[in-house]
Amino acid sequence: MAMHELQSSRGASRIWRLFHAIDDDGDGWIEAVTLVEVLARAGFETDDRRLAGLFGRLAERQGARLDFTAFLAVLGADSLIFERVVRGDLAVPDFASFAEEMARIFAEAAAARGGRQARYVAPLAEVNPERFGLAAVTVDGQILRLGDAGVDFSIQSICKPFNYCFALEEQAHVGLQRDAVHRWVGMEPSGRRYDAAALMEDGTDRPYNPMVNAGAIVTAALIRPGETVDERLDRVRRLWALLTGGDAPRLDTRMREAEGRAGHRNRLLARALAEAGAMPGGPSATPESVGDALGLYFGTCALALTVTEVATAAATLANGGICPLTRSRALRRRTVRDCLSMMQMSGMYDGSGEFCLRIGLPAKSGVGGGIFLVVPGLMGVCVWSPRLNAHGNSVRGVRVAELLAARYRLHAFDPPAVSADRPDPRLSLSAWRAAQTARALWAAGCGDVQTLDGLLNQQVDLGRGDYDRRTPLHLAAATGHMPVIRLLLDAGVDADPIDRWGRGPLDEAESGGHAAVVALLKAHAVRRDPRVGSAERELQPQQALDFGDDLAVAELLWAAAADDLDGLRRLVARGVPLHAADYDGRTALHLAASEGAERALDYLLAHGHPIDVRDVWGATPLDDARREHHDGTMARLIAVTRSPTDPD
Ligand code: GLN
Repeated sequence: MAMHELQSSRGASRIWRLFHAIDDDGDGWIEAVTLVEVLARAGFETDDRRLAGLFGRLAERQGARLDFTAFLAVLGADSLIFERVVRGDLAVPDFASFAEEMARIFAEAAAARGGRQARYVAPLAEVNPERFGLAAVTVDGQILRLGDAGVDFSIQSICKPFNYCFALEEQAHVGLQRDAVHRWVGMEPSGRRYDAAALMEDGTDRPYNPMVNAGAIVTAALIRPGETVDERLDRVRRLWALLTGGDAPRLDTRMREAEGRAGHRNRLLARALAEAGAMPGGPSATPESVGDALGLYFGTCALALTVTEVATAAATLANGGICPLTRSRALRRRTVRDCLSMMQMSGMYDGSGEFCLRIGLPAKSGVGGGIFLVVPGLMGVCVWSPRLNAHGNSVRGVRVAELLAARYRLHAFDPPAVSADRPDPRLSLSAWRAAQTARALWAAGCGDVQTLDGLLNQQVDLGRGDYDRRTPLHLAAATGHMPVIRLLLDAGVDADPIDRWGRGPLDEAESGGHAAVVALLKAHAVRRDPRVGSAERELQPQQALDFGDDLAVAELLWAAAADDLDGLRRLVARGVPLHAADYDGRTALHLAASEGAERALDYLLAHGHPIDVRDVWGATPLDDARREHHDGTMARLIAVTRSPTDPD
């Protein structure tokens, strides 16, 4: 196919934008390895089975440079996923930042050395207590692996939520509903140790829930009761493979035997259940069927998986039952919802309530030191570290969960609005920053009281500054919008915030000649001389582009200020014009120059960002670089400026 034919088709023009976005220096060539890096940064490694074709074609061109035609050929049928990667249309759009933060969390949690590993059976006692692995898998199959993420560990009680799912699915296969399972096992938190013998006191004598041992023995009994234990265990392993999108879990036979030998407590629980007529089948349950249920429970406890596999199974739960790696349905949606509800209430033993308040995510742990979390709609996370706390939960695992909850807005019951204290991995950092500031600043600049009132109701911090530390009050004072200023001051924002240029709202009001605003601000205890060196607001004619999407513009400027190349690429791939300007006529090039963001500056220049743009004070990016003494960006701008505005 000829080049012009390719470019004329609609798909190709979209792909052209991708090419342009990752052609950082704009020379029309991309290194093949750049594509590998772009994919890896988004959580798609070269061993990814889904992208075997793409990685194969890339491997053939190792070391080569690609022009657009070669780029199209390499992408082939995988252009759609590549487009989502570059545009950031994935569960975690800024996966590279997320991975960095997770690596910090991992290192911090590694310092937690308290607790004791389980010793009740030799195979657990022999595990190196220093083992530490973490994996996160998003609903789009982006994968993060840290430490011992590829080492098998004994899942132990982590089998319980999955056995519960399998029991629900088996009943559904034979046309029965959830009640067929819950006739035998309750749905209430027990508030007791996981191996407590207590049964519900509502007259049913059921174990409290499927997450405690008694409940798990009952759910095991409900999985294919007519077959042999080995057949049933094989069935469970095949179902696991659907959840992980890979191989069946390994069965640690030594662990299974040791569990059986040491499992007096579980045998006691099973006998007590049988005696109470509480095993499936009721009083007619045979000793064989009870023994087989126990055997299946021990077998499923002795399954060995990597944290990457368990995180993938968790991602399948997060994804409503569809495995993100295979895109096939492994569980019905209803089963997943039931399982997550149960995990939320009872997944962390008798520490479940506190865990719910502090972390707010469905989770399940096992005595082997594994623990997994589900962030519905977003991702699964699994941690393995053998030392346990008093509840029997992995010390480092709980620490990771705590740090995750402290760093990210992930708690199921966080209010829906974007929160200022913690970013949301569902947004890129620049989009998150933009979401906090852009709407309020644009609204303040154009006197939109209604929007500001709405933001206030959502508890958005109206005093927050942007990349230039400009706040809504600066904008409102500059334009003299009294109702907006009153609203902001009533909301308790700082009356004298200082922007990048050392200017406060009072300076703005004074240079704008808004006497009433000046008086109002002075009444709010802002009493000082206008700032030294503050420029006059000249209201320059704007060459910069007034682009309709305020949030996208703010995201662009935040990305430029942070020297965030991935962020700039995402915006180019989405078709956002790089020279779009904000309420102060500021452009990405101004911000890159102001912050000494050299990579961003080079990228912007290579992508045709004009250099003679002026903000409302008449300043060019070169003026910014000069003022902030960034020699690198200054030199670059001088090199491309034919007639510097202010030749030194
Ligand atoms: N096999 C262990 C038991 O049944 C699993 C318990 C657990 O992980 N909490 O006692």
